Amino acid sequence: MRLLIMGPPGAGKGTQAKFIAERAGIPAISTGDIFRANVSQGTPLGVEAKRYMDAGEYVPDTVTNDMVRNRIAEPDAAAGFLLDGYPRTLAQVEELDSMLAGSGHDLDAVVVLTADPDELVARLLQRATIEGRADDTEEVIRRRQEVYLAETEPLIAVYTERNLVRAVDGMGEVDEVTERILGALELTAQG
Ligand code: ADP
Repeated sequence: MRLLIMGPPGAGKGTQAKFIAERAGIPAISTGDIFRANVSQGTPLGVEAKRYMDAGEYVPDTVTNDMVRNRIAEPDAAAGFLLDGYPRTLAQVEELDSMLAGSGHDLDAVVVLTADPDELVARLLQRATIEGRADDTEEVIRRRQEVYLAETEPLIAVYTERNLVRAVDGMGEVDEVTERILGALELTAQG
């Protein structure tokens, strides 16, 4: 299966991606996690990405596209993957289309988590106290929401046109949301 999970910052994409990917037997690939790993290891990619991430801006498409192209070419992604946090711009959609075309595959579905914006700010501020992510300050959170609305929300219309979107209410308990997503993807438990 080749899946995407989308939704505003704080909607719970990362948390849900791990559960869904496990159930589907595919790796969850989070661009945010890969960037953060590079930042903490001080790689050149991390040094470049950090400047943008700390400001709540997107890392340039060229950097992100190359990273994803390399990651999905790894053997564990040969039978499928769940992308979390990519694509986030129209240019990234085109790039992903060409990566998929190159490997002769199609996307199966795009999970869109919906959520209330004020609730999301509260969640992210709460996460900041637990995980201490540098981009979880109120100012940067607001900026990430703006960038999401301007750059990424329009992608939902693109994937809706392609009949791939499964919209799922992201509010409520984590396991309730997981069950909703599994239902929407027809992956509900067989044990
Ligand atoms: P969230 O969805 O909670 O905002 P992520 O962990 O997915 O956070 O991403 C954190 C940051 O990493 C983003 O604000 C951005 O700077 C960078 N990033 C992640 N994915 C992309 C992408 N596809 N394109 C550009 N920048 C990205």
